[in-house]
Amino acid sequence: MARYTGPSCRICRRQGEKLMLKGMRCFTPKCAIDKGRSAPGQHGGDRRRKVSEYGLHLKEKQKARYIYGVLERQFRRYFAEAQRMPGLTGENLLQLLEMRLDNIVYRLGFTESRNQARQLVLHGHIARNGRRTNIPSCQIKPGDIISWIEKSSKLTLFITAAEDIKSKTIPDWLSVDQETLIAKVVSVPIRSEMDMSINEQLIVEFYAR
Ligand code: SF4
Repeated sequence: MARYTGPSCRICRRQGEKLMLKGMRCFTPKCAIDKGRSAPGQHGGDRRRKVSEYGLHLKEKQKARYIYGVLERQFRRYFAEAQRMPGLTGENLLQLLEMRLDNIVYRLGFTESRNQARQLVLHGHIARNGRRTNIPSCQIKPGDIISWIEKSSKLTLFITAAEDIKSKTIPDWLSVDQETLIAKVVSVPIRSEMDMSINEQLIVEFYAR
């Protein structure tokens, strides 16, 4: 399936909640959800429709997929891998998503959204352990060093990120030097350090059907 390239706000409207897909815009009154805009389509405003259990599970799975910008097939692969890992499948799944390179670039505060982080990686601005990588889904491990490639550290993108990062809160499982923007992945995040708006149990139930 091709990647969705339509308006991000449309996804939030369909899901009926803020998924924070557009960076700073999500915190402004321009947010479509804050403006009370209902779901797109002919029956978008019909909130009386009863949602089935299956619908609830599906919705949660889609939500996680949209938040992390992952395609259906890729998401299914993450789930299969999470099942093979020891521990709780739902938590494993979220950890696999969090340890994607594009997510880490976003969590480090280098960009305002995961979508921008994905672009930054795709355009070859980011290095892992000193080697440029342009694969957004690349799985990062504790101890890995994430940095900007030397040429990119002269770009406005870098200067803006270095300025903005001073006002951002970086999660405890990551550390970053605010001048050089050289970062280290300290550990794999625990559940309380990941997105609390996702109910991973509903996703597990979706795939258990
Ligand atoms: Fe969703 Fe609002 Fe952000 Fe648009 S601005 S992506 S509706 S949270």
